[in-house]
Amino acid sequence: MAVDFSIESEFQERLDWVNRFVRDDVEPLDVLFPGCEYLPLDDTRRAVVDPLKQQVRDHGLWACHLGPELGGQGYGAVKLTLLNEILGRSGWSPIVFGTQAPDTGNAEILARFGTDDQKARYLQPLLDGEIFSCFSMTEPQGGSDPALFTTRALRDGDEWVIEGTKYFSSNATVATFLIVMAVTDPDVAVHRGTSMFLVPADTPGIEIDAVHHLYGSAGHEPGHALVRYDRVRVPADALLGEEGRGFAVAQSRLSGGRIHHAMRTIGMCQRALDMLCERALSRTTRDGRLADKQFVQGFVADSYAQLVQFRLTVLHTAWLIDQGDERAAITQIGVLKTLIPKVLHDIVGRTIQVHGALGTTTELPLMGWLTASFALGLADGPTEVHRANLARHVLADHEPTDRPWPTEFREYRQEQALERYGDTLGEGFDSP
Ligand SMILES: Cc1cc2nc3c(=O)[nH]c(=O)nc-3n(C[C@H](O)[C@H](O)[C@H](O)COP(=O)(O)OP(=O)(O)OC[C@H]3O[C@@H](n4cnc5c(N)ncnc54)[C@H](O)[C@@H]3O)c2cc1C
Repeated sequence: MAVDFSIESEFQERLDWVNRFVRDDVEPLDVLFPGCEYLPLDDTRRAVVDPLKQQVRDHGLWACHLGPELGGQGYGAVKLTLLNEILGRSGWSPIVFGTQAPDTGNAEILARFGTDDQKARYLQPLLDGEIFSCFSMTEPQGGSDPALFTTRALRDGDEWVIEGTKYFSSNATVATFLIVMAVTDPDVAVHRGTSMFLVPADTPGIEIDAVHHLYGSAGHEPGHALVRYDRVRVPADALLGEEGRGFAVAQSRLSGGRIHHAMRTIGMCQRALDMLCERALSRTTRDGRLADKQFVQGFVADSYAQLVQFRLTVLHTAWLIDQGDERAAITQIGVLKTLIPKVLHDIVGRTIQVHGALGTTTELPLMGWLTASFALGLADGPTEVHRANLARHVLADHEPTDRPWPTEFREYRQEQALERYGDTLGEGFDSP
């Protein structure tokens, strides 16, 4: 089957509009309201942001990640890539286009597993970008290994009682509800004994014990909370999905989130590459421009080559999703998850170097993106765990040999070749 990333000219016109809109109207928000993306809109910000959201809706581009069953346009993953790579240029874009994590994934879970009452209360405001949500899974004693999770939910009559502590619960301080993973059956493997709950943020017993911020981010940002669930009582129907199926539900949510991060990373890398090239062409030393130095040319060429490869891999993954090839897509999302931090780190790192001291300051966005490169190597699971999973996927398509030497051993290949051509070559044939 031919791999085809082409899009209709009508959608290209929309992308051209998005390109202009993000550069002219959205990127300015990053300097006017830095770190306010996830704060509830006050009157000042609302006066600027609401008309922008309306323009996005008018162009049929609001919450494009959603399928038609959730009121989205169902454009498919390739088009979403072409859109999201533009949105990746600005921290405010996902808010203005209704595609911000973790709300995107949480909305999908709510739509699929929430009760009518939960959906009525939370789903539409979440899809409208009027409320924020939190996904509360990681625990202080172990994020990468769910087997170490100790937060419990015990059934008590018509209620569940949740007890435990979660770490790095992003946006818990501004969320209207939290989706909490808790062990409901400690006697079976964690992947069969953990369940997911929808917990309204004003439920008694939810305590924010600390808020940690990514290095370089502002104190007013909602940050990542250490949340204590102190005998938090929720009704029986707060369970999202079946009891014990929390990880299966979480997995469906995380795959989507990972590829969206990859799509936006293209935009961040492209912006860094643009900065690298501008600086290389503008800055001179006594014997010429930085762009004429071989080391700097290497920076430009390597960055461009890495970005082209990465972008193609994202597009190819998106194409596999659009073809419905779920198995191949999941393997390739694993590839992307391992590539995101490396590509971003390498391109941004070179760009910082070429900007000299200025590159390390808060006058440019580069150090923030460098922090993001490390954060993206941890959020949704660390790179090392994904590499190990990826290796398992790849190895599953291969077989061991039971012969003493590898299959590619010259003698075995010669045997094979003679089986194929022996009759034609005759008995006396000897390879040169
Ligand atoms: C920006 C950001 C936002 C986040 N948002 C959320 C959120 O909203 N909700 C939430 O629940 N969590 C969130 N997280 C937490 C994230 O899921 C965890 O950081 C991640 O799962 C790793 O857990 P940890 O930080 O405890 O690292 P650890 O588990 O302590 O691991 C540390 C390192 O040990 C190594 N390691 C660990 N296990 C293995 C292994 N099996 N094989 C090989 N190496 C291994 C890896 O190098 C890893 O980076 C967020 C993290 C970041 C950075």
